[in-house]
Amino acid sequence: MASLPSLLPSKPALQDTTSTKDEVDNPFGKATTPDETPIFICAFEECYRLLPTHKALMAHRKKDHQTEDDESSIITWNT
Ligand SMILES: [Zn+2]
Repeated sequence: MASLPSLLPSKPALQDTTSTKDEVDNPFGKATTPDETPIFICAFEECYRLLPTHKALMAHRKKDHQTEDDESSIITWNT
């Protein structure tokens, strides 16, 4: 595995001359919440498929993994 040296060469910070005021004021990405954006990830057998609801996750599991396990290997928001 590659590793970084304990000291990295320093370099002067440069001013961002390409972003416009509009881009800074209206960033493309935004923070969200579990209520706004539910996320369920199927971690069964390293599948890691992203699904919008628990119901959709269960339908996917039944179809693609032939299991109705609704407890283990689910990654979702920390609540
Ligand atoms: Zn899956």
